[in-house]
Amino acid sequence: APVIVWFRRDLRLTDNHALAAAISSGRPVIALFILEQGNDGALPYGAAQAWWLHHSLSALSARLAAAGSRLVLRRGAALEVLQAILAETGACALYWNRRHDPDGISVDSAVKAALRASGIQASSFAGQLLHDPSRLKTGSGGPYKVFTPFWRALSDGGEPDTPIDAPSHIPGPEQFPHSERLEDWRLLPQKPDWASRFGETWTPGEAAAQEQLAAFVRQRLGRYGQARDFPGLDGTSRLSPHLAFGEISPAQAWHAARGAADGSDAEGVAVFRKELAWRDFSYHLLFHNPELATDNLDRRFDAFEWRDDAPMFDAWTRGMTGYPVVDAGMRELWTHGYMHNRVRMIVASFLIKDLMVHWRSGMSWFRDTLLDADPASNAASWQWVAGCGADAAPFFRIFNPTLQGEKFDPEGAYIKRHVPELSRVPAKYIHCPFKAPASVLQAAGVRLGSGYPGPIVDHASARSRALEAFSRIKASS
Ligand code: FAD
Repeated sequence: APVIVWFRRDLRLTDNHALAAAISSGRPVIALFILEQGNDGALPYGAAQAWWLHHSLSALSARLAAAGSRLVLRRGAALEVLQAILAETGACALYWNRRHDPDGISVDSAVKAALRASGIQASSFAGQLLHDPSRLKTGSGGPYKVFTPFWRALSDGGEPDTPIDAPSHIPGPEQFPHSERLEDWRLLPQKPDWASRFGETWTPGEAAAQEQLAAFVRQRLGRYGQARDFPGLDGTSRLSPHLAFGEISPAQAWHAARGAADGSDAEGVAVFRKELAWRDFSYHLLFHNPELATDNLDRRFDAFEWRDDAPMFDAWTRGMTGYPVVDAGMRELWTHGYMHNRVRMIVASFLIKDLMVHWRSGMSWFRDTLLDADPASNAASWQWVAGCGADAAPFFRIFNPTLQGEKFDPEGAYIKRHVPELSRVPAKYIHCPFKAPASVLQAAGVRLGSGYPGPIVDHASARSRALEAFSRIKASS
């Protein structure tokens, strides 16, 4: 009887423990991906990620074919699909790599219980994270709430396991079960094709993920510590969508970033591994606080007077706030399905504090538009910026978007790339065109309010308004 490997957010052959275990069983292996739809037909992916998924499945399918296998595609509720395919193929075992978000865990627990009850072996493996979130515990045996001690425990826990190689051949059954056609899933946007420029920046799939990692280690790891905060530089790894779909494992990234033998890039190595650990920390938080994705971890914020301001939220989503760094970020997001980390913090602070719109609205927009949308990092980061999460930035730390822009994009290179209306504004005013003399704007071909907008709020007054609202919840607690 064959065995089934159920692929989920682990669309790779290298360092895939479930696949390796299935092959070592000595039985024919069936590779399966299920498009898990809820009763309402909704997908567990935002629109941008559906684009990525399409291309990633296509790449995985080709990788499997090269190893003599095939990817079987089915859609529906996971347990029903699995029961059907087990019955069709007479498979005796199911293997998968564990996921750690609450929805995934609840599906997987139900599947495990149902399969075991019917005498089918169900085995799960680690690999989505550097360390299983249940493994790291504080001195008193509880979960961590603060990053620094978490990071210490993670680094003291030893290196993650050395990645295992991809199999060169995957033995298959004589006859593969029927597969649905990827095209029929219609994961790609129809008209208008708002994802048309994603392909300029991104190549989904395991091979591209490995190339991306190798190029980063070779060219950028050494100066990562200094360059990572500057959105105008190509200073970070841009591995996040690949990690979100498990085209590469965090252990592969960790080990590849071991640095030069002479230690010349030791700082870059340390900072990069620490960022990978933030991903683990987000999962650790979500695993131990499943409400992280929906509710304020700090319940004082339940009384915060959020503003339900649709036109303001709309201006933020379209990159039309009049604050160039915010607008550049939001347009980078829309056009490329990605935003630099520094700018994510700035746009999130602007939405939550300057506009006082609930962080949940920002998180949902990110979920739909980010190629790396991740249930743990997205929720944990939004709550971190809002000041209501674990180990969060305090609420009163309100980013001034103009100063942030001047500090982290001094020449305005990032602005010019994403807000072409401002491309001729001199560096002195590129982060505050609203302060530029009329003659400067005229020479740059900008008329604020027709085309590029003036500021939708005055930052200084918005800041005071937010601090007052915050003092009311502090006073009431
Ligand atoms: P690099 O700087 O090269 O870092 C390497 C890897 O470390 C990243 O790929 C990522 O997996 C991890 N990492 C880095 N920074 C963080 C962080 N602060 N938190 C968690 N993991 C981190 N990241 C996501 O992967 N998905 C999200 O949905 C997401 N939403 C975010 C929302 C907000 C409001 C903010 C402020 C940050 C969010 N991040 C999210 C974290 C971070 O911005 C991205 O991981 C990073 O920008 C990805 O680019 P990179 O791969 O070049 O990162």
